[in-house]
Amino acid sequence: MNIEPSPLLQAVENYLTSRPRSTRWVEWLAGRRYRLAAFPDRPLPVLVVAYRYRDPARAGQIVRAIEQDWAEAPPHCRESYQKILAQAPGLVVVQLRRGNVCGCLGHRHLLVKEALFAEPHDAFGGAAVGEMDIAFDRVEHWLALPLMDTALDTQFVAGSRLQEFHDQRLRFRLLSILLHETHHMVAPQAPEEAVRERSLAFYRDSLASYAENARASLAFTIDRSFSRLGKE
Ligand SMILES: [Zn+2]
Repeated sequence: MNIEPSPLLQAVENYLTSRPRSTRWVEWLAGRRYRLAAFPDRPLPVLVVAYRYRDPARAGQIVRAIEQDWAEAPPHCRESYQKILAQAPGLVVVQLRRGNVCGCLGHRHLLVKEALFAEPHDAFGGAAVGEMDIAFDRVEHWLALPLMDTALDTQFVAGSRLQEFHDQRLRFRLLSILLHETHHMVAPQAPEEAVRERSLAFYRDSLASYAENARASLAFTIDRSFSRLGKE
């Protein structure tokens, strides 16, 4: 997988850090923070996670989902979003929220509200800018596929890996919401049912593949301890 740094990501990063110190200071005091991320196998889109000062851990989970967990998803899951990602705006602002008054997991925005990215800038290299929000805590408690989630929980509860599994599951949920809203951005006319079907399939198959690999490595550990016992 190509791990070249995205040129646009570098340009936006430079832009953010080269602004006058006083401007950045005001932004910092107001509690505004940004993290940039790109998928490891494609230079675009570049994601700007915009968050409040108290949420660096939540922002970090989104960044990790994009930069690492995407690569862990089965190839057919990633393939199902290649066209959508290719048509997405070059720069996508993700407003990280804890919750939404309406109770939704996320929305795409018709207008870019994040002031820093609302106006075109040389650093964006002519890239279109889109925006969405993600309600992190709602995603965390979302019962995406209740039967499957419960079944996997009981498998992982036996080991010490339940927390690891829950963190991984959360990041696949965040990814699937991000991809879902990007799909809406690219195809505003697409029916909700089709958009949801694709993002749920991404979530379901990624999680199943993760669980299968985890089980295999667990079985491998058990086998090894058995064979060691056999030698004694
Ligand atoms: Zn939707």
